[in-house]
Amino acid sequence: MTARRPRTDPPLPFPDPVGERVIDLRPDAVLAHVTDLVAVVSPDGTLAAVSSSVHQRLGHRRDRLVGEPVSALFVADPEYVPTEDLDRIFVEPGAHGPVTLRALSADGRSRLVSAVIDNQLTPDGGGSVVVTAVDLTERRMIEAALAEQRVLLEAIARGAGVEVVAERLAERIEHWLPEAVAAVVIRDRSDRWRVLAAPSVPDGFRKVLDGMDPRSPLGRTISRLPAHAGSIDIADPGWFPLRAAARASGIESLWIRPVASLDGADHVGAVLVLRTDHRVLGEGDVDLLEQSAHLVAIAVERQRATEALEHRALHDDLTALPNRTLLLDRVSQALSASLRDQTGVAVLFVDLDRFKNVNDTHGHAAGDAVLVEVADRLRAVLRGGDTVGRLGGDEFLMVCSGIVELSDAVAVADRVWEALQEPAVFEGHELPVRASIGVALAEGPEASADELIRDADHAMYRAKEQGRNEVALFDHADHLRVVSRVDIERGLHGAPERGEMVLHFQPVVTLPDRRQTAVEALVRWNRPGSGLVRPGDFIGVAEETGLIVPVGAWVVEEAFHSAVAWPDLDAGTRMRVAINLSPRQLSAPGLVDRVTRLFERTGLDPLTVCFEVTETALARDEDLAIATLDRLKGLGVCISIDDFGTGYATLDYLRRFTMADELKIDQRFIAGIADPLSQEHAIVAASVSLAHSLGIEVVAEGIETEEQLSTAIELGCDKGQGYLLGVPEAFVAAVATSTGGRPLPANRPDPVRAGRGTRAT
Ligand code: C2E
Ligand code: MG
Ligand code: MG
Repeated sequence: MTARRPRTDPPLPFPDPVGERVIDLRPDAVLAHVTDLVAVVSPDGTLAAVSSSVHQRLGHRRDRLVGEPVSALFVADPEYVPTEDLDRIFVEPGAHGPVTLRALSADGRSRLVSAVIDNQLTPDGGGSVVVTAVDLTERRMIEAALAEQRVLLEAIARGAGVEVVAERLAERIEHWLPEAVAAVVIRDRSDRWRVLAAPSVPDGFRKVLDGMDPRSPLGRTISRLPAHAGSIDIADPGWFPLRAAARASGIESLWIRPVASLDGADHVGAVLVLRTDHRVLGEGDVDLLEQSAHLVAIAVERQRATEALEHRALHDDLTALPNRTLLLDRVSQALSASLRDQTGVAVLFVDLDRFKNVNDTHGHAAGDAVLVEVADRLRAVLRGGDTVGRLGGDEFLMVCSGIVELSDAVAVADRVWEALQEPAVFEGHELPVRASIGVALAEGPEASADELIRDADHAMYRAKEQGRNEVALFDHADHLRVVSRVDIERGLHGAPERGEMVLHFQPVVTLPDRRQTAVEALVRWNRPGSGLVRPGDFIGVAEETGLIVPVGAWVVEEAFHSAVAWPDLDAGTRMRVAINLSPRQLSAPGLVDRVTRLFERTGLDPLTVCFEVTETALARDEDLAIATLDRLKGLGVCISIDDFGTGYATLDYLRRFTMADELKIDQRFIAGIADPLSQEHAIVAASVSLAHSLGIEVVAEGIETEEQLSTAIELGCDKGQGYLLGVPEAFVAAVATSTGGRPLPANRPDPVRAGRGTRAT
């Protein structure tokens, strides 16, 4: 700590605050430093001394004022005090008072001041009167400036654009400095100066300022300025490009306060004051510029944050592509533009094939990499003016305007298809980026953005159904199909719980003796208002949406409980029930456990249950499907390959279905079997011999005629099923006594199929 030193301050020129002692004057030192306007008046009413601030604020030369009457500096404002009262204070010893006056400046203007006049005249005609005045105009302006700043800050907070703020600031500066004009400029996205506000700046000068390159001489001069306000003299070489324009506009000096970004990292703009004289800006004026620059910085920052938020709201984080909202807007814009120039708009719905596999097998980072790669490739094939965006997940949308013919749209789709053939590479793995592409073209002015996207979506679905990695064009049938798809999905929700599902049972007979030893359980949906709906109309949707899991669970349970009630066949054997399982059911957890519990609960012999699966069951997740089938097989049930011949790799699949006991040849082969020269005949013959060599029994499905039946027998089919041998019916009771030669119901149409007149081909 430093020791306290004795005070060496100069004595005060005025009575000290306690008012008891008059301390001797050292006026000049004090008068040189006070910021208030101070005047010492002699007994004769003339000015004996004035503070430097009188010169700084009012422009008077001090030596010229000394000896002048006090009224050269201070006069009464009749609004506040009559002239006689003021005169009295100046002549009456001991008079004292705060009073509002006008202080005259050298140029003849006046300012309102709040003064304290202290009359220290002595009766002997000595002493002096001291006037201490505070500039009220300035104070009021500061108050006004603060109020204005508050208003502007609030406006910025409420989202006022930087233009509005700049306009207000320029007006405020011009109000404050009536002899100057102001401009606010910012650096725009292309890194040039842009004039945001320059309400009174002459046009010629404004033009030079607007669009100015920060690397130009003046631009560089501005960037070199320190962060606080600085002036550029017209002689500065930096002025050169502006000199003529400035001179033409009578501008002699330029004050610039660069606007630094709030983090101070860069110059985002500038506040400029242009004057027709060389006058130096006062302290308060510089403060005002400072404050204005700060407000511009806040407004710029706020605007940038808002723009960034808006960008995020309309773009996808991962790929930076436009998102659904922006895409919808772009499609609408393209549609309006197409109306004007009489061209069409094409929308391409791009949906990656088996994207889920990438995520499941290689992880989400790989999935993200694929999406980014696809985004890049789609961007690369984009034509100028078109848009590509991400709808979400693995769905992308391209919007192409100026389409004259359908072939234009197809050409774009082909380019997209082409661009997605090469796999992406992620951490050394090749990942497929193939996609199914649906194309829809806006036809007529009534097309809406929503509809166009929906149409392209429907077409994309068809591309998937056609085997994926395809391009499909929208046609009206797509629409109907998808509409009913949505409708089915809605109706099927909770249908088992509402008791809307029923089982029909179709006989399966041994050949050649036609003994009914089994029935196949076939589900129907008794949909309120629609009657019995055939499985062909809802199983596909149920499979796609996963609703097959609850529906299928209901079928298994219902089939088990029905089978328990069936009486024995001859020789104590029981009739077998065949239950269809969909691919999705095989990969859903809990199936085997549920079946195990059902056996326990019902006491059914596993030998009397057969599960039918199609070849496509293996297409989904082969290992999982085979594991599930093996576990089911382990329970003692029979496994049957359904619709044999309709799958992808047919014969090869037989090797993988090592647990299969039976295969059911699809009815489309049986339909043509009777002609010994047909392909069907040959295929069935080959399948039977292959199956038998593997120890697998063969069922001929869909036998409708005696010829088909006899050919099936001839070719060695072990069992038969079809309308000729028995239609699906709600009850099995009659069958119990109908074994051994009793003629089975012949060629009666399935009530579900009847009326629709369908026949599998
Ligand atoms: P599927 O398993 O091949 O069943 C045989 C289909 O052929 C049945 O159609 C049956 O009514 C029909 N059919 C039988 N005999 C003849 C005939 O002589 N001529 C003709 N034209 N058709 C005949 P349905 O009942 O419409 O079932 C269609 C498909 O729906 C079934 O084919 C099966 O794949 C599926 N399905 C039925 N029920 C279920 C189920 O509970 N779960 C699952 N996952 N799928 C089921
Ligand atoms: Mg079946
Ligand atoms: Mg079948």
